[in-house]
Amino acid sequence: VHTVDILGVPFSTLTMEETIQYLFGQLKQERRQTFHVVTANPEIVMCARKDSAFQNDLLQADLITPDGIGVVKASGMLGEPLQERVSGFDLMNGWFAQAEQQGRQLSVFLLGAKPHVVERAAKELRRLYPSLQVAGHQHGYFGADEEEQIVEKIAAAKPDILLVALGFPRQEKFIQTHKQRLQTKIAVGVGGSFDVWAG
Ligand code: UDP
Repeated sequence: VHTVDILGVPFSTLTMEETIQYLFGQLKQERRQTFHVVTANPEIVMCARKDSAFQNDLLQADLITPDGIGVVKASGMLGEPLQERVSGFDLMNGWFAQAEQQGRQLSVFLLGAKPHVVERAAKELRRLYPSLQVAGHQHGYFGADEEEQIVEKIAAAKPDILLVALGFPRQEKFIQTHKQRLQTKIAVGVGGSFDVWAG
C-alpha cells in the first residue's frame, strides 16, 4: 500500500472503498499472524511523537488509515494530500454492509467496552448485518491476570476479524502483543465504536 508520512506516521493513501476491497483481499491470505489495522487520529499521531514505545507499536501495524479531518488536512499542507478520512466506525460499517450485500460470510469477535455495552453492540451488529457471525464477545474491564485467558478465548473462536475497543493505546498494544496467537485474520482498534453501536 502506498503511504504518506505525517509527523512520522505512514498513512495509507487508500480511499474508504479501496480500503474495504484491500481488507477483503487480506482475508483470503494465509498468514501466520494477525493483520493489524490502526485508524489513527491526530491524538494518536501526537502520542506517537511523545512516546517512542507507542510509536514502535504503531510502526509495526500493517495498515494505518487517516481517522480525522485533521489528518487529511495536514496531508494537504505537506503536499501529498490524502483523499478522504477513513475512520474505524465508518470503515467497519462500510465493510460489513458490503459483505451483507454480496452474501459474503464474515465472523467477528468483539473485545472491549463495558459488559452491557459490548452485549448491546453485538446485538445491534446482528440486527444491522444478519449474515455477520458474532463469534464471541468479551468486555474490556479485565486485569492483567485475565489477559491470557482472553487471548485463548479469541483464538478458540477463530474469528475473521477481531474488533478491539479498549481505547488507545491499550487496544493497539493488545493486538501487537498477541498477534502471533490470536488465530484471527485481521484485528482493528475501534476506540469508542461499541458505545456508538450500543446507542
Ligand atoms: N475501555 C475498556 N477498558 C478500559 C478502558 C476503556 O474497555 O479499561 C473502553 C471504553 O468502555 C470504551 C472504549 O474503551 O468503550 C474507548 O474508550 P475511550 O473513549 O476512552 O478511548 P478513545 O476513544 O480515546 O480511544
